[in-house]
Amino acid sequence: MHIGPTVDLRNYEKYYEKFKKDLGSEPRCMEFHIIESDLTPELKQKMKLVNEFLKDKNLAISFHCPDHPLNALTKARLENKNPDYAKLMLLADALKQIKQKKFLVVHQGFIADRDVIEAMPLDVLVRMKKAIKTIAAEELSIINKIFSNMTDLNTKSTADKLAKSQSDLAIGAEILLEQSPVFAGANKLVHITDQCFEDFSNRNFRMVMDISHIALLVHYFKQNKIAKSPTNKAKSDLAISATKQKEKLNWMEVLKKEYNGIPKSLQSIESYLQMAKEKTAWFHLSDANGIYVANEGLVIKDSKSTIDWNKIIKLIKDKEFGVLEILGCEKDYAKIQKSLKYLRMNNKELFTHENN
Ligand SMILES: [Zn+2]
Repeated sequence: MHIGPTVDLRNYEKYYEKFKKDLGSEPRCMEFHIIESDLTPELKQKMKLVNEFLKDKNLAISFHCPDHPLNALTKARLENKNPDYAKLMLLADALKQIKQKKFLVVHQGFIADRDVIEAMPLDVLVRMKKAIKTIAAEELSIINKIFSNMTDLNTKSTADKLAKSQSDLAIGAEILLEQSPVFAGANKLVHITDQCFEDFSNRNFRMVMDISHIALLVHYFKQNKIAKSPTNKAKSDLAISATKQKEKLNWMEVLKKEYNGIPKSLQSIESYLQMAKEKTAWFHLSDANGIYVANEGLVIKDSKSTIDWNKIIKLIKDKEFGVLEILGCEKDYAKIQKSLKYLRMNNKELFTHENN
């Protein structure tokens, strides 16, 4: 696997050079995190500079799309004066400046207030999720029409025709869907779809697999299991948020109802990887040690990890691209550096692609 850094529009030149030094060779992949405040008319010029920067490099790149503007599509508010729609179009227009192949990382998962979802009977939630997943499939085809040239996707012929007639809009980005973690915001918001791999089944897509997110989700179901069988060895891993171990979360419990038990993909991280590997184009690598927002996106092996990295790396090492997506790394490069150092020391087999 080629390992790369995550960067933003302010630090990419600096981070590229630092990472190159730490890796001992040119990085071959990198992810740009676009935040909402980047979505201004200046973005186009900034992307021109990114394109210049990329010119003499052999670098696979992805752009992580901010979630909020995508709501312009999910809420079917496509009127011109909607500021979200305008932001989305700024992004689409700016991405045309990037002349090479690129990925656009999108969280399509549906976010809701935790209180609302907690109060909802499970059978109502099951029906609501079913409706949301149908909408998500339609929305994905709209996002594809805007951001892709469609050539990489197994799309229906009508969508193909539309893409051709809108060739001035063709940006040539491949949309990659990322799975959602357990919580959003400050644990006051929650993701209610796109956690298990099974939730994606009615969409045409490839995906970003976020190891930290999967670890949070898998850990939720393990907690319940462990609460019932306290002799389980893994108990010692649960020191984090110990008082909340038995907390039942409606939007996670609903998965058991939908899929007749814990969905297969969330029975272990390995199970998710095996099911989704074929569909995965890009990995996000970071550690996790619980189920909450504070437990995700951690420096690799810096804390009480719930991830067996040796096992995971055996399964992913032959895939092409993985970026170190550590929370707060945009302000503190050392978080990327430490994670890279751990992997280089303990999981050398991960870097066998690095010289090809
Ligand atoms: Zn991620």
